[in-house]
Amino acid sequence: MKDKIKIPFNKPFVAGKELFYIAQAVMQNNYIAGDGPFTKRCEAWLESRLGCRKVLLTPSCTAALEISAMLADIQSGDEIIMPSFTFVSTANSFVLRGGVPVFIDIRPDTLNMNEKLIKDAISSRTKAILPVHYAGIPCEMDIIMDIAERNNLLVIEDAAHGMMSAYKKRYLGTIGHFGACSFHETKNIISGEGGALLVNDDKFVERAEIIREKGTNRSKFFRGQVDKYTWVDIGSSYLPGDIIAAFLYAQMENADKIISKRNLIYSLYMENLIPLAEKGYIRLPCVLNDCLTNGHIFHIITRSLKERMDLTLFLRERGIMAVFHYVPLHSSPAGKLYGRTCGKMEVTDMVSDCLLRLPLYYEMTEEDVQTVTDGINDFYKGF
Ligand SMILES: *Cc1c(COP(=O)(O)O)cnc(C)c1O
Repeated sequence: MKDKIKIPFNKPFVAGKELFYIAQAVMQNNYIAGDGPFTKRCEAWLESRLGCRKVLLTPSCTAALEISAMLADIQSGDEIIMPSFTFVSTANSFVLRGGVPVFIDIRPDTLNMNEKLIKDAISSRTKAILPVHYAGIPCEMDIIMDIAERNNLLVIEDAAHGMMSAYKKRYLGTIGHFGACSFHETKNIISGEGGALLVNDDKFVERAEIIREKGTNRSKFFRGQVDKYTWVDIGSSYLPGDIIAAFLYAQMENADKIISKRNLIYSLYMENLIPLAEKGYIRLPCVLNDCLTNGHIFHIITRSLKERMDLTLFLRERGIMAVFHYVPLHSSPAGKLYGRTCGKMEVTDMVSDCLLRLPLYYEMTEEDVQTVTDGINDFYKGF
């Protein structure tokens, strides 16, 4: 790249005592394996802040989704209804168990799975519905939960974007049977790589612990509930080390500060771009009533693929990195091989062509936001 990047798309950050806690894990606790003191603190924090029955820290959101697929007992040919407009892990975690992702289209306003299309996608092989809260904007959970209950299906929330967003006063990830969170460095609360599984139904807690501990009942052993531990079920190694948890705990202590900063940047973007939206050049994010959001992604939707590509280049020449989002899974090579679609994918295809994510990170200044929106406004002056 010949031009210097002035405003990156994302920037990992230290919010408080991250490095101090890592030193403490190593030098004072003398404990850096999984399920150490910092892991326990992170889990307790999530349980109390989100109001969740049981939280298990994992190495990634992908790992949390993989555990969910085992808990849902996905067998070869079982179907999982999900949007195509999402990250690969949403589907891949289930394909690993032999599951078949059934892709449905998204709503043009929230860009989340269109709940009206779920019923038609249900077959005798359907096991679960997998809502993804895109950009931290909640899906229509009441309707999704209702359909699931009537059809005896599990609901697994991909809440990778949704940390501390809420739907009708309930935090994302705590509404379905399971929720999967991500602490990847591109997300709101970070630890480089990292994730958590939220288990919201008592009857799955014990098995979730076993799957996460390589299929052993070691968690029970550590609690003194059995006198030796042994192999009892399928599972894998899904514990992050306590150094990761130490970093993460410092982020959690600053979660309110981080989210409110992101929301501030988000509302500045809104304010500065509303005139362009009113003129019909771009579309801005849209949130359902009675929802709280977390400023995870700020995106605009242009009128065509060409316009998005031109705008991306125009901003890039000013040192501003803005990026698209997703090659829809139904049109990816593996998606075609392992999944199928139900109905048209018109909105998904359009959004994938026209969506542009603007820079948004904790250390971004109001001036940076102004620079980005000046760029966008200047681009549309030519129209
Ligand atoms: C980032 C992301 C994931 C995966 O998270 P990891 O922690 O990187 O495994 C899953 N789903 C969505 C929607 C994501 O954006």
